[in-house]
Amino acid sequence: MKPSPFSLHLPESLPEALELLASRDNARVIAGGQSLMPMLNLRLAFPDDVIDLNGIAELAGLREDGGDIVVGAMTRQRDIEFSPLVSERLPLLKEAILNVGHRQTRNRGTLGGSICHLDPSAEQPTVAIAMDARLSLRSVRGERMVSMREFAVDLMTSCLEPDEILAAVRFTPWPARAGHAFVEYGRRHGDFAIVSAAALVLLDAGGAVERCSLTLGGVASVPFRVEAAERVLQGNAPTQEVVREACAQAARCEAVGDPTYPAWYRQRLAQRLLERALLKALERAAVLSQ
Ligand code: FAD
Repeated sequence: MKPSPFSLHLPESLPEALELLASRDNARVIAGGQSLMPMLNLRLAFPDDVIDLNGIAELAGLREDGGDIVVGAMTRQRDIEFSPLVSERLPLLKEAILNVGHRQTRNRGTLGGSICHLDPSAEQPTVAIAMDARLSLRSVRGERMVSMREFAVDLMTSCLEPDEILAAVRFTPWPARAGHAFVEYGRRHGDFAIVSAAALVLLDAGGAVERCSLTLGGVASVPFRVEAAERVLQGNAPTQEVVREACAQAARCEAVGDPTYPAWYRQRLAQRLLERALLKALERAAVLSQ
């Protein structure tokens, strides 16, 4: 298949791209093209104008800012994978991104594209929910910051306005003694996960859970925090019973289903994967807290 005809625009600055986007009714921005190109070819998207963000240097790169790590939307997944800053300060994102597609797709795919494409089981949106990331959305009207939870409205539907571009994603790293783990289950390596689980956990001096974040991808229409499980853990020693009871909450979460992977299957998988991720994060937290 081939895309329906469109005009291609190659802006060299963010203001130029924003002007183009604001002045056209049926325009789409393209980043790595790893999701949008297939959609164009399958005529699942048929914009009159495509605005290519690849020539806008200011949208790529990672930097520290007041203790946060700010990742430009056009940062390639491969650059995130190899970034010493991410390895050291955002180990959950590092572990997750190794599951994204193949190295070839990661060479082109971007963090911003994955966040905006918002596939329910995509790893990067799941980490952004797990870490309560904040997103900088830009338009000719200025900038607005939204949390990833506000951004992810529904199945592949974000709160992005038609004239907005995601400029950057701001992560607040957890303390170095936090344990992390990202696990997923898919049919083949490189496929989208059927279900994924992300765990972050901090232990206090007595070994009880001081703070935790437990997130599931691929279960509902958007990735979500399993707050019922977090409440079971909070303030308690992570004994086998407490861990089991916490993860059992995952099986009670509302799940989407399809003929291949029904809701009950995803719920069962979610419970197992959450337990695997939590135990791995607890193990790491115990070592790092020594
Ligand atoms: P594009 O495809 O260019 O754009 C995606 C969408 O986001 C479009 O609607 C576009 O308009 C919009 N968009 C992009 N950037 C912005 C921005 N800055 N502001 C506003 N809107 C924007 N992904 C996974 O998560 N896990 C996988 O396992 C996985 N496996 C894959 C396997 C294959 C073979 C392929 C081809 C892709 C796979 N992907 C997977 C998808 C890949 O990660 C894409 O990179 C990602 O989903 C989209 O990123 P992109 O930069 O290519 O965005």
